[in-house]
Amino acid sequence: MMKVYNLDASALINGFYKEDCLNVMVSSAAAEIKDINAEMLMNNCINDGILKIESVDSREYPRLNDVLLDSGDYMRLSQTDRDVVALALKYESMGHDVVTISDDYSIQNVLKLLNLKFQGVYTKGISQTVTWQKICKGCRREYPGDTKLIECDVCGSPIIRKRRNSHRNY
Ligand SMILES: [Zn+2]
Repeated sequence: MMKVYNLDASALINGFYKEDCLNVMVSSAAAEIKDINAEMLMNNCINDGILKIESVDSREYPRLNDVLLDSGDYMRLSQTDRDVVALALKYESMGHDVVTISDDYSIQNVLKLLNLKFQGVYTKGISQTVTWQKICKGCRREYPGDTKLIECDVCGSPIIRKRRNSHRNY
């Protein structure tokens, strides 16, 4: 029995993978990755042997269809979403301990109904930092995050704190 992480596209785009485990990804999810950094990360992981891209036929898993129809999630899940769940079922049927990484609520719901493990992208595994900066509410002039000024020294408007785009360390 192996610990396997089943990544959806958003997981890898957000830099999630486990270095010391096998990470798997269904080919239709891999095809959704257009972001250059994520594509580079994906290729590095494949070359390092920690990520395997696999195709799966979701029709081979009647349990999945039953749950989709019963729960009303059938329409909410794209074919790729279904493939992500089917890949989890595939690894479970091989006897592995598989955790699917996805922030998609419908995917998580279906996994729960199938008694499969899942985890959100943001809960663990990624290193992400949020930084703050200060800007003038009037003229949008930027100030360092630690400035003691409360009024803009150019236009006199209040200085407010603003969340800077988060930085991800791939
Ligand atoms: Zn100003």
